[in-house]
Amino acid sequence: MAGIYIHIPFCRHKCNYCNFYSLASTRNMDQVARAIISELEQRKDYLASQNVETIYFGGGTPSLLETSDIESILDAVYKNFSVEKDSEITLEANPDDLSQEKLIALKKAGVNRLSIGIQSFRQEDLDYLSRTHSSSQVTQSITDAQQAGFQNLSIDLIYGIPTLTDEGWEQNLQKAFSLKIPHISAYSLTVEAKTPLEVMIRKGKTKPVDENLSLSHYHILERLMQYNGFEHYEVSNFCLPGAYSRHNTAYWQGKHYLGLGPSAHSYNGTSRSWNVANLAKYIETAASGQVESEQETLSQVTQLNEYIMTSLRTMWGCDLMVVRKKFGDRIAEKLLKDARHFVVTEQMAYRDGKLILTPEGRLFADGISSELFSEEE
Ligand code: SF4
Repeated sequence: MAGIYIHIPFCRHKCNYCNFYSLASTRNMDQVARAIISELEQRKDYLASQNVETIYFGGGTPSLLETSDIESILDAVYKNFSVEKDSEITLEANPDDLSQEKLIALKKAGVNRLSIGIQSFRQEDLDYLSRTHSSSQVTQSITDAQQAGFQNLSIDLIYGIPTLTDEGWEQNLQKAFSLKIPHISAYSLTVEAKTPLEVMIRKGKTKPVDENLSLSHYHILERLMQYNGFEHYEVSNFCLPGAYSRHNTAYWQGKHYLGLGPSAHSYNGTSRSWNVANLAKYIETAASGQVESEQETLSQVTQLNEYIMTSLRTMWGCDLMVVRKKFGDRIAEKLLKDARHFVVTEQMAYRDGKLILTPEGRLFADGISSELFSEEE
């Protein structure tokens, strides 16, 4: 089983905190759709005949694409790959794109899961983040999506925003629960280098981010999610039982995926490749029959370290049996020995042959993983 990721690199405007590859423009969207179709035809053997069980339109803002372009891309996927009948087809959307007509058309095109980038229900937070949608559009887009038949819904929320008090964060979460959304991704606001937000904070033009505030929000998040029956199944992802993102879970489980579009990454178990992060070059090279990309063959040690990093981010944890089978007994024993320190400090538990981060440990997931990385070649 495998997945297909399609990167749509357009946004209405560049949000001040964002460092993803996207352009504040909607020009050339139809050309990109054609280039993506051409790339998928060129790379139809990449997944080596594995069935496709998830398709994910990410970005950027894929909801800016014309529905006819989404249909054409999906048709090309069906023609060139073997797609499972009950495949999960997700589209990332911003609230200001989700008119009722658009929602109905997306449903008809075959999209069966929406991930809506709402970030906050409160206008002052949306203003701080320079989002283009308003707080009233947030609730409207969710209820419209549900009425259009999208029960499999996810929303993104950001915490640690300097305008967001503890009470405001609780209200945001309670609002999400009251709207019966089965999947919530919650991210701590990170100030990335060279973003407008970083410059504004450096020049004293906007409030800085406070780590203690983020920490307090994280504890509220853990408590309210648990109280409302949500599973914390990945560092930033929560869902009601069974409502996991199948696409993202497949990434964390090391399944193979083909990434299409500018800057998209692909993985086939032994190598990783990434397309050129430049729209004009992407369109030009897709038309010439070979998208410009770079590739890295993954050594055993890189594969091991990637497994440690991704598995520890999930509630299923790092399975010592998998490590034993793939990398050998000695490596598994060493990993267990190195992990003992984190078990003693209660940042990690060792259960049924698996190393699993505790809620406290999840706060430091990346740091703990890197402490456990192997350096042996
Ligand atoms: S809409 Fe999303 S991808 Fe686009 S600029 Fe804003 S945060 Fe970045």
